Amino acid sequence: MSTTTVIVGAGIAGASAALRLRSGGCPGRVVLIGDEPHPPYRRPPLSKDLLSGKTPEERIRIRPQEAWSQQGIELRTGTRVVALDVESRKVELADGEQLAYDQLLLATGGRPRELPQARGVPDVFTLRTINDVSALRDKLRPGSSLLVVGAGLIGAEVAATARGIGCAVMMLEAEQCPLSRLLPPQLAEVYTELHRSNGVDLHYGVQVASLERVDLGVLVTDTTGRKWIADTVLVAVGIAPNTELAEQAGLEIDAELGGIVVDEYLQTSAPGVFAAGDVACAPNLHLGGRHRVEHWTSAQEQGAAAAAGMLGERTSFDKVPWCWSDQYGKSLHVAGWPAATDQVSVRGSLEDYEFTAVFHRDDRLVAAVGLNRPKDVRTARKLIAEQPHVTADEVFAQLG
Ligand SMILES: Cc1cc2nc3c(=O)[nH]c(=O)nc-3n(C[C@H](O)[C@H](O)[C@H](O)COP(=O)(O)OP(=O)(O)OC[C@H]3O[C@@H](n4cnc5c(N)ncnc54)[C@H](O)[C@@H]3O)c2cc1C
Repeated sequence: MSTTTVIVGAGIAGASAALRLRSGGCPGRVVLIGDEPHPPYRRPPLSKDLLSGKTPEERIRIRPQEAWSQQGIELRTGTRVVALDVESRKVELADGEQLAYDQLLLATGGRPRELPQARGVPDVFTLRTINDVSALRDKLRPGSSLLVVGAGLIGAEVAATARGIGCAVMMLEAEQCPLSRLLPPQLAEVYTELHRSNGVDLHYGVQVASLERVDLGVLVTDTTGRKWIADTVLVAVGIAPNTELAEQAGLEIDAELGGIVVDEYLQTSAPGVFAAGDVACAPNLHLGGRHRVEHWTSAQEQGAAAAAGMLGERTSFDKVPWCWSDQYGKSLHVAGWPAATDQVSVRGSLEDYEFTAVFHRDDRLVAAVGLNRPKDVRTARKLIAEQPHVTADEVFAQLG
């Protein structure tokens, strides 16, 4: 009897799962459902070359449009799943259609966290989708001004892209350094220098109190009364995982991290239901505890791993997180879980934006960060997984 696998969310996690099901010989129906109007696409260029106009939209597709049907994957774009019943194994679509599944993957990703003060204010944007880029790109012209709230990965990348376009850029951050969720302060400081030397007016310790459209632009006021004005504002203060379907169906949600709890096989608390990508909160088999990673490679690897689980291959998901960021022509790579309290060893020069840093916690290699050193970080990623008790000298010796 033919089985049906339904995948909710046609981002990289969902798309990778669908492709892995087919390459793994799944004989049944595979239905990939996404609420965006576009076929699956790569999100990382949204803040980089798609925003700057250097890359056209067709170039960021994960596969050419026809590839999905050629693979026997039923891609349903512009379709929202509104309900999940794990007892009768059915999902309901926005138009009322009921779709029965044998196995289900929730790959619903996340959406930009909102600033309540910004709701409904004209010329204030967030960035998650192709449609968001279209709206924001129209506003970024040479000589126009942009204020970015939040100096995380997306805010910092948009600031760099906007400087490349020739905009005047201000960036406000609540913490005392940029990229604070990605890098410990001593390395994040490199990015303070990088942005300031590229002309970004950067302010730390800022809590935004209000945003208001006035004659000259959007007026942003912080809790101490400081004011900034810009033609356009981007709010980039993180994402909220899309857990509504899972919550409504009674699946376990991590109270602290907010994602759908999965086990090492990416299975949720409901039989036959898996979760992967930004929405999944998975066990960290290297360090213990649970993590919810919000990066491309993890979403891709988890989607494929969940599909492998659906195919009956019981392999624990133990991949070390990996992410990158491109700003001002410099590529940052991060593997593992760097923390401010780790022992850090650096090879290279922070001032010259060319270095590799490795992080030890209790004599265990837990992370590596490289600026313009992708090969080093790739090698270190392997060591974190396979040989974590190497010393910093031994790591650097292996990097060559
Ligand atoms: C601007 C930007 C730049 C980035 N740059 C980098 C980078 O340089 N490096 C890096 O490592 N990571 C980067 N990331 C992060 C990376 O893109 C994400 O981690 C990754 O896309 C997550 O994939 P996902 O499939 O889990 O979720 P998503 O990509 O969020 O996909 C989930 C999809 O499911 C849809 N969906 C949700 N609910 C439903 C429903 N009920 N019914 C139907 N569809 C639904 C959503 O609309 C969405 O299309 C970037 C992200 C953004 C936004």
